[in-house]
Amino acid sequence: MASFVQYRALQRAADPYQQRVTRTDLPENERGEFVLYRPTAARRLSRNLALNFAILRAEELGLPLAIAESLDEPHLNDRLAAFLLDGIRVNAAAKGFHYAFVKNPAALEKRARIIVADELPTRRERAHFLVDGNGLLPMRVFGKEQYAAKFLRDRAHRLLPDLWAQIDDLPPPRRRLALESDPLPKLTALGGRENALALLDAFLADGIHGYADQRNKKPTSGLSPYLHFGHIGIHEIAERVLASDAADEDIDSFLEEAVIRRELSFNLCFYNPRYDSLECLPEWAKKTLDKHRRDRRKPSYSAEELEGAETYDEVWNLAQRQLVETGTMHGYLRMLWGKKIIEWSETPEQAHAFMIEQHARHALDGRDPNTHAGVLWCFGKHDRPWAPERPIFGSIRYMSSEQTRKKMKLNLPR
Ligand SMILES: Cc1cc2nc3c(=O)[nH]c(=O)nc-3n(C[C@H](O)[C@H](O)[C@H](O)COP(=O)(O)OP(=O)(O)OC[C@H]3O[C@@H](n4cnc5c(N)ncnc54)[C@H](O)[C@@H]3O)c2cc1C
Repeated sequence: MASFVQYRALQRAADPYQQRVTRTDLPENERGEFVLYRPTAARRLSRNLALNFAILRAEELGLPLAIAESLDEPHLNDRLAAFLLDGIRVNAAAKGFHYAFVKNPAALEKRARIIVADELPTRRERAHFLVDGNGLLPMRVFGKEQYAAKFLRDRAHRLLPDLWAQIDDLPPPRRRLALESDPLPKLTALGGRENALALLDAFLADGIHGYADQRNKKPTSGLSPYLHFGHIGIHEIAERVLASDAADEDIDSFLEEAVIRRELSFNLCFYNPRYDSLECLPEWAKKTLDKHRRDRRKPSYSAEELEGAETYDEVWNLAQRQLVETGTMHGYLRMLWGKKIIEWSETPEQAHAFMIEQHARHALDGRDPNTHAGVLWCFGKHDRPWAPERPIFGSIRYMSSEQTRKKMKLNLPR
């Protein structure tokens, strides 16, 4: 299998915008006073392709640049707001920019000549230019849905030498609009670029060593909420990982998750309009789930019982409590968590809806393309049929709590 380590000395592509900028049909506001950048996926002022694009447009038009972030995450609650606000505070304090927090951006948007926004496959932004800075590769480069990691991986390694671009910081715009910020609510949850960089440093110093074969037993990077909110970007993470002293197999194993698996999730949400339902499962998975639709669920739990971590299974309860109390869950435990929900729910559709809803409400990294792909993986997406055929699951991969206890270090009540 091709290794990421070969890209250590790669000459980065000269044009970082190739296949990443879309001009929508929104008419330009000829009387607009400024270029507005609305960060929704890359909420940072460094190594940010959409911001660079907005700076260049502002310079070209001779207009000031305005940057305004709002708390527009779906299912916003105190935990998510606090994480976002930490990021806004860091950005608002940065030199060379005016980064404003606005509760209601609609009035501002009307005054803008052009609006530049981040492109996420799970959101529709009202903007003139959408910039896809999500992955090491542009989402459009694949042309269609890639049904398994191996297809995306093969193509990615053919394309990366030409398309892995350097995203540097441009000088701040000469003219900037000092927007009046709304008062920032006083919530905090360790979000923001500085915390992301500290976590990455700590991970490179310790966590990455042994990642290839020990990651179920150790904490992983914890970077997913920062990637989700764009407090840090994948280009910076991948470059730092390649420049680290980690063993080649650990580097490859980490980038397999952070690049291949993550970009497979974006690929799914970008190319498959049914990414939020079981409709987008492969035929074999749909068939086997249907065949076992009437199998007796024993035990079976209601959404309330599951939400309250009231099952007989202490491993699962631990995972659920961790999600509700901290907004995070270890990657390995997450797989078991999903599989058990399938086993205990009346229908696969109920299980799917519960997993998506729990991620939306509680997970710091939820509401992400990775949420959809991760949840669907539990139902067979991006996987293959497994033997033996079992009740409820049919030929979908099964996982047991006993196995999980053996594979992970868990802090369970005695
Ligand atoms: C049921 C289920 C739900 C999931 N929901 C989410 C979610 O809401 N948000 C989310 O970011 N990830 C989700 N994942 C994928 C994965 O579990 C998390 O990305 C990972 O646990 C995050 O922890 P980390 O940042 O410490 O990961 P690390 O192991 O340090 O990995 C680094 C980065 O690689 C990416 N990554 C790691 N594993 C995967 C994977 N299997 N698929 C895609 N990308 C991956 C993430 O961006 C992650 O931050 C889900 C997986 C499952 C099985």
